[in-house]
Amino acid sequence: MVNITSVWKDNSKQGSFPILDQDLTVDVAIIGGGITGITAAYLLAKQGKKVTVLEARAIGEGSTGFSTGNLYAIPGSEGLHTIEKKWGKEHARQVVESRAAAIDFIEARIQEFNINCGFVHVPWCLFSEQGESASYIQKEREAVERAGLTTSDFIPFDIKPSVGFSIANQAQFNPLQYTVALAQHIQSDSCLIFEHTKMMSYEEGEPCIVITDRGKITATEVIMATHTPKGLYFVHSSMEPYREYAVAATLNDNYPPNGTYWDMISKQHYSIRTYDTAHGKVLMVLGEKHKVGTEEHNESRFRNLENFLRERFNVNSVVYSWAAQQYKPADGIPYIGKSSGSKKTYIATGFSADGLVYGTLAAIIISAEIIGNPNPWNKLYDASRITPVASAANYIKANASVTYELIKDYLFKENVDHFSEIKPTEGKIMEINGQKCAVSRNRTGDLFIVSAACPHMGCIVHWNSGEQSWDCPCHGSRFTTDGEVIEGPAISALAPIHHEPSKS
Ligand SMILES: Cc1cc2nc3c(=O)[nH]c(=O)nc-3n(C[C@H](O)[C@H](O)[C@H](O)COP(=O)(O)OP(=O)(O)OC[C@H]3O[C@@H](n4cnc5c(N)ncnc54)[C@H](O)[C@@H]3O)c2cc1C
Repeated sequence: MVNITSVWKDNSKQGSFPILDQDLTVDVAIIGGGITGITAAYLLAKQGKKVTVLEARAIGEGSTGFSTGNLYAIPGSEGLHTIEKKWGKEHARQVVESRAAAIDFIEARIQEFNINCGFVHVPWCLFSEQGESASYIQKEREAVERAGLTTSDFIPFDIKPSVGFSIANQAQFNPLQYTVALAQHIQSDSCLIFEHTKMMSYEEGEPCIVITDRGKITATEVIMATHTPKGLYFVHSSMEPYREYAVAATLNDNYPPNGTYWDMISKQHYSIRTYDTAHGKVLMVLGEKHKVGTEEHNESRFRNLENFLRERFNVNSVVYSWAAQQYKPADGIPYIGKSSGSKKTYIATGFSADGLVYGTLAAIIISAEIIGNPNPWNKLYDASRITPVASAANYIKANASVTYELIKDYLFKENVDHFSEIKPTEGKIMEINGQKCAVSRNRTGDLFIVSAACPHMGCIVHWNSGEQSWDCPCHGSRFTTDGEVIEGPAISALAPIHHEPSKS
């Protein structure tokens, strides 16, 4: 049977962290308990700051626990040669240097706390089976070498790539197990970690005030470690949100050796790796990326990944499938540090699908700035930068798409007129009393009706059939069928709508 969850969630020990039950005053409040927030908490508490981490769900169960657990020094999603082209050779070299330092940091924490999270050194390999991406791969290899890494032709893989290269000594781990274990080791009276405690509003000031659903936090500084900052931030206009899919399967024989394998097909890569679960080995593949809220019938994405594996391996059965979100920055470099116009608020976002490393790096950079000993890489990732040349094409694309979504969905007619037209597991937009509503039915036919206007900036949400959620195509906020926020910049839920019997 397929588990509709990540391989990590089923193969990690749970942490046990309390729910906030009082008001607190701290030096630094960290919103979000993924790899970024927990690493920042570790660093700040070590330097004598009183910190609290507020996590809406469970530690590590945001994107961190739904990633693929690969650690590599090059910025894979964007391509190093693209960064070199936009920013120059020295920037590209520093990106690689800083990412390599973040991987070393993770390995050092695993050793410091003796964390059992399957950390192994492996080669990272980029190849294409058809040679269609030969020029991309060649350019990437040259940029990687200019940045100081050694490459080889070695692809330890049983299919026959026509073009490709490897970088030795990269790494893999179980990202959820690492994050939960790190959190367990650091929680103390000066590092208070709370789960199931959601930030409901935030006001920057002296002091900063964070209101949660469980109590009020007064803090000197705040780190928004929520993958994309919650609320209205300038960076939202400089990033595109994408969903990406993964499946993990058991094979009858011939698992590939340990390694991170990126197979390039039509400008996208399919990322392949193995993992030893308590019940045996699995082979996972990740890919099939598309913009959030632009594909209702996304079940085919899972099938495509399964077919990808079946065409290349002797698959026994698919045992896990999941999806996760990423935010692509317009100029190719994440936003890390003080948010534009902020004095006390730090953000860490725009990691694409490279954020286990970038998130760790963000924690290193931000904590150094808070301690008052800024890291030399902070300028490279400056969160308040404006880069019209490097961002131009992607910035225009991202904002044209937001404007289009805003106008299109308000002008166009709704999907259906009556509740009876909506079948179990379907979601449709209906107009009720002049208001656009997101109406869906669960598997047993129960009806859910909420406002279709995303509370972040008012775009109309779209149905995501594979994950049974309402997804906003503008900045990537996602909601459950009863309107609760799953992820993205929205803070509040889709407003509830009262049932109107005449539409039934
Ligand atoms: C399919 C996929 C595969 C990937 N694979 C890799 C990989 O192999 N290697 C790699 O380096 N990167 C990978 N990434 C990227 C990586 O997963 C993310 O960039 C990284 O996990 C981000 O970590 P984070 O801590 O910043 O965010 P998250 O892990 O998302 O943590 C943010 C936390 O904030 C919490 N939160 C949100 N709102 C609130 C609120 N109001 N109050 C309190 N808490 C809140 C959330 O619940 C969440 O736990 C992948 C991404 C995708 C999409």
